[in-house]
Amino acid sequence: MRDRIYVTKRAEVATSHRCAHPDWDDAQNGAVYGLEARPHGHNYLVEATVSGPVDPRTGMVTNIKDVKAALRKVLGDYDHRDLNHDHPAFAGTVPTTERVLEKVFAALAGEIGHGRLDRVRLFESEDACYEAHHPDSPLSPSRRKDTMLITRRYTFSAAHRLHSPHLSEAENREAFRECNNPNGHGHNYTLEVTVQGEVDPATGLAANHLHLDGAVRSEVVDRYHYRHLNDDLPEFADAVTTSENIVRIIWNILEKRLGEGVLYRIRLAETRDNYFEYYG
Ligand SMILES: [Zn+2]
Ligand SMILES: [Zn+2]
Repeated sequence: MRDRIYVTKRAEVATSHRCAHPDWDDAQNGAVYGLEARPHGHNYLVEATVSGPVDPRTGMVTNIKDVKAALRKVLGDYDHRDLNHDHPAFAGTVPTTERVLEKVFAALAGEIGHGRLDRVRLFESEDACYEAHHPDSPLSPSRRKDTMLITRRYTFSAAHRLHSPHLSEAENREAFRECNNPNGHGHNYTLEVTVQGEVDPATGLAANHLHLDGAVRSEVVDRYHYRHLNDDLPEFADAVTTSENIVRIIWNILEKRLGEGVLYRIRLAETRDNYFEYYG
């Protein structure tokens, strides 16, 4: 494992689809798939990561041009196509992004000549990423082949002040510097919530994104957006509003709503130039 190098190549396709179970009515499909139940489309950005030892003669794991060619071949069936009508692999199934990822992963794995396909990330948009792994990969969150990671991104704008009641005024200024300004300061926070799950054969979903979005919005975003974290939120009454504390507090709040074993990672960026992660 030590000498494995990870090589990543990306490609984009323009695809339309509609996620609706043929046996369900519009209300039921809307309840399960939300807006995905309407005919619509995405630029899926596909990111393939291949790993292996470096060939001492070439200095490469694999020729990245071969990875590019494999992506082009596999994604040729998707680009400028409608998944419900133009792609035989989805006949009789709901073409969820999870199923697209499963099929792209399996097809790509068959096309990679050198090295192992460790990970495929499929970005449905900049705010939604689906990720599958080779079960032997150290990048995999579990050793189960069908566990996927789903990351959704949210933003909130909030004020805060870093100040600890356990430190003196001088110690607070020393520890937090300009972040200890008595009148506070603020950020456009970016919150990424990653959950893990296996694809449900009935729905084709590994996570119910409506449920996830609902939980994150009602428990975090709607409560934190345009607020002062120190003054307005009871969970920070005894906790310094550092991002280290915020990610742990958000984890605990969301775990109560989503259940144990669902969350994989909470990532919070205060600014474009830093982020903080918690894995529970
Ligand atoms: Zn869609
Ligand atoms: Zn700050």
